Amino acid sequence: MQSIVDLYIFFLGAAIGSFLNVVIYRLPRGEDIVFKRSHCPKCKTKIKWYNNIPLLSFLILRGKCSECRTKISWRYFLVELLVGISALYFYHHFVLRFGSYGDFVFYFVVFCLFVCHFFIDIDHQILPDSINIVLLVLLGGYAIFHFSLNHWLIGAAVGFLGPLTVTWLFYKLRGQIGLGGGDIKLYGILGFYLGPFDILRNIFLSCFVGTFVILVLMGLKRVSKDDPVAFGPSIIFISVWQIFFPEQLNHLMKLVGLSALVF
Ligand SMILES: [Zn+2]
Repeated sequence: MQSIVDLYIFFLGAAIGSFLNVVIYRLPRGEDIVFKRSHCPKCKTKIKWYNNIPLLSFLILRGKCSECRTKISWRYFLVELLVGISALYFYHHFVLRFGSYGDFVFYFVVFCLFVCHFFIDIDHQILPDSINIVLLVLLGGYAIFHFSLNHWLIGAAVGFLGPLTVTWLFYKLRGQIGLGGGDIKLYGILGFYLGPFDILRNIFLSCFVGTFVILVLMGLKRVSKDDPVAFGPSIIFISVWQIFFPEQLNHLMKLVGLSALVF
């Protein structure tokens, strides 16, 4: 019986992942998210419902449009798979282990917003305000009801003012804008939830990961020195570890000799 529930949760997650793909594509383009039917970007054929089944359709059509055979990015499939697996994991962790449907829904929605931020930033180098506002309401609201005033107030202040000051100094010294406004807002929002210590840890680690990613991309000649590279994915990547796998992150820190960053 449990395996049927698991399968159901997994496919529900994959279907939500399919919807997130739509959000990732349409939100930055200002297109209607809910009411417009999906179509092939090449031949404009409307996608029929039986060709729009999460995961399965991509496999059956071997990643091609059913009409013009244009290749469809494997990323659509990966996002559906990722969200399906995550829904299953969150269900087991929050519902079966801790008996909380509320936490299950809350953290799953936060994760979905992270997924949208991650890919929209890669595609367009922006973290949309609309997603930041929903994250602020969710993470800020949660923090105010669950954590002390010192935790969320100082956390948000550090998360917002720290990167803002550094960016401002960097701009004064070099005349270049380092972090975008969306990155700074996201740090501030995360500060509510993470508190002062963990948001500092996030800033440090995400800068580390972000720099590493830029160096790798430059090494692979995928970007040149002056190309804009999205920084949001690094912030999201570290946040997912901190919020969902804090113990594993501490293990990893000890493993690579960064014990000073273990709290
Ligand atoms: Zn087509």
